[in-house]
Amino acid sequence: MVEKFDAIVIGSGTGGAGCAAILASKGLKTLLLEKNNVLGGRCTSYVKEVDGEEWIIDKYVHYFCRCEKGPFGKILKEAGEPDAIKWFHPTFENPPLGYLENKPVGAPLPPFLQPQNMKEIQDATGATDEEMAGLLKVFDAIFSTTRRKSHKLDDMTFDAWIKSHLENPKLILMFHTLCVMMNVHLPFDIQYKGKTYKGSSAGDAIRNLSKWFKAGNTGYPLGGSIAISNGFAEVVQKCGGVVLTNSRVININVDDYNKVVELDDNTQYEAPIVISNVGIKETVLKLVGANKFPEDYVEYVKNLIYSEGGRDYGVVSLKIAVDKPLIDAPVILAIPQNLTFKEILDFKARDEVPDRPGLYYITIPSNMDPSLAPPEKQLINAIGPCAINSKHLDDWIEYNLAAVEKYIPGVREHKIFMDVAVGDNIAEWTGRFESDMVGIAQSVGQVGENRPKPETPIEGLYIASADTGQLGIGTELSAQSGFDTAKLVLKYVEAHKEKVKPIKQ
Ligand SMILES: Cc1cc2nc3c(=O)[nH]c(=O)nc-3n(C[C@H](O)[C@H](O)[C@H](O)COP(=O)(O)OP(=O)(O)OC[C@H]3O[C@@H](n4cnc5c(N)ncnc54)[C@H](O)[C@@H]3O)c2cc1C
Repeated sequence: MVEKFDAIVIGSGTGGAGCAAILASKGLKTLLLEKNNVLGGRCTSYVKEVDGEEWIIDKYVHYFCRCEKGPFGKILKEAGEPDAIKWFHPTFENPPLGYLENKPVGAPLPPFLQPQNMKEIQDATGATDEEMAGLLKVFDAIFSTTRRKSHKLDDMTFDAWIKSHLENPKLILMFHTLCVMMNVHLPFDIQYKGKTYKGSSAGDAIRNLSKWFKAGNTGYPLGGSIAISNGFAEVVQKCGGVVLTNSRVININVDDYNKVVELDDNTQYEAPIVISNVGIKETVLKLVGANKFPEDYVEYVKNLIYSEGGRDYGVVSLKIAVDKPLIDAPVILAIPQNLTFKEILDFKARDEVPDRPGLYYITIPSNMDPSLAPPEKQLINAIGPCAINSKHLDDWIEYNLAAVEKYIPGVREHKIFMDVAVGDNIAEWTGRFESDMVGIAQSVGQVGENRPKPETPIEGLYIASADTGQLGIGTELSAQSGFDTAKLVLKYVEAHKEKVKPIKQ
C-alpha cells in the first residue's frame, strides 16, 4: 500500500530540511526523503575514527553569515523551536584573522572591521590617500544603497560597478574576492567551451554584502555544519513527521492531484504537495520530466546557469587533523594580492599550479566547537583553488598545503591525517547535473525579477533550494527559499483545506 502524507520534501539540504520543519510544525503530516546516508546536502559533516578517537569533519568548508539573525533563525522561530540550533560567534578577544596575501590586516569580517584595518589595508596595498578615500566610498555605497536602488544595478556586472569606483588593481581584487565569497560566482563575464557565462550581478552582490555587514553576526553551528539540517530534522520528527535517509527518489508522478514519489527500491509515497530541494533543473528535466511542463518554462529552466564550482572556478578542500592546537583564531581569510581571478582561470585551464598564492578561506572548526576534535588536538579545514578534473591533483594539494602552512605554521609536522575533497565531485553528492557550489548563479539576468521562483507551473509542486532563493549567500539562500516555500505551501493549504487539511495557527 502507498503511504500517504500531506507534504513530501525531497532532499535534506538547508532549504529542504528547513521547509519540512515549518510544515511539520504547522500540523502537516510531512515526509523528508534524503538519498545520502546523512542529512545536509552540501552543508554536512561526517564522523571519522582514528586510533579510537572521534573527529567530526565538515564535508566542505562552511562558515555562516547571519546565523540565528538570518533565515535559519526565521525558520526555527516560525516552527516554534528557536533554540534547536546553537551557534558559536567569534569575539573581539579572538576575532577572525584577515590577510592581504601574507600581510595581516586584522579581522576583515563584520562587526570586527575597525578604522585601524584601513591603515593596514593601505600599507598592504600601497594605495594612495585618494584611493583609500575611494575605498571608503565603496563601503559607503554598499551600506547606503537601498534595496530599490540596488535593483537598478542588477544588469551590471560587479566588476563593471567596482571599476566605476576604484582604479587601484589591488583594491579591485579585494572587492572581487568579497564578491566571489558572497555570490560564489566570478564578477565578470567569461567564455567557457564556446559559451558566454554572465558575471555576478552588482545589484545582487551589493544586497548580499550589505545584509552580511549590517547583521554583523557571522558564526558556526555547534555540532558542525550538519547540525543545521539535523536541527531542522529533529523539529520534523518532534512534530510527528518522518525523516528517511538512504532514500533516493527516481520519479515524481504529477499526473493526479495526489502526486506519487517513487524511490529506487520501488517504494512509493503519495501527497498533494511535493517540495523538491534537489534543484530546479534536476526536478523539472529529470525527476518530473520536461513533457509535464509548458515549453516556455522548460526553455527558461534549461537556459539557467549554475554558480561556479565544477565548471571553471574549481576548488579543493583540505581537512587537516593536527596533534596539538596550533592557532587560536576561529577563521582565516586570505585575500590574494598578486593573482587575479582572470589569471587563476588561465592557470586552472592549463592545469598548472600558480606561482603565487590565491584566495584561501580556512575555518578551525574545533576552535568554534571543541567537541569536533579529540581533547588537545585541532581540526583545520581549508579551501583553495584547484583545476577541474586535474591530472596533477597532488601538485594542487601541495600548493594549497604550503599556503595553509604560511598562515598556520607547523601544520605539516603536526598532521595526523588529511582528508581531501575536490570540487568536481560535488554533483555526485548533491544529485545535480553540475558540481556547482551554491545553486543557480546570482549573475546578470538571473537575479531580481528574473530569479527562479519556488512555485512551478504544476499545482502543488514547489522547488525549495538555493536555486530558487531570492537573496543571501549559499546556505542562507537555500534556507530563505525553504522559508518562502513553506509560506507559499501554507497559503495553498489554507485555500484548499477541504482537500488537504487545516493548519495549526
Ligand atoms: C565547497 C563549498 C563551500 C561552501 N561554503 C559555504 C559557506 O561557507 N557558507 C555558505 O553559506 N554556503 C557555502 N556553500 C554553499 C552551500 O553549501 C549551498 O549553497 C547550500 O548548502 C545549498 O543547499 P540546498 O539545500 O539548496 O542544496 P543541497 O545542499 O545540494 O541539498 C540537496 C539535497 O537533495 C538531496 N537529493 C538530491 N537528489 C535526490 C534524490 N533523487 N532523492 C533524494 N534526495 C536527493 C541531496 O543528497 C542533498 O542532500 C559552499 C558550498 C561548497 C560546495
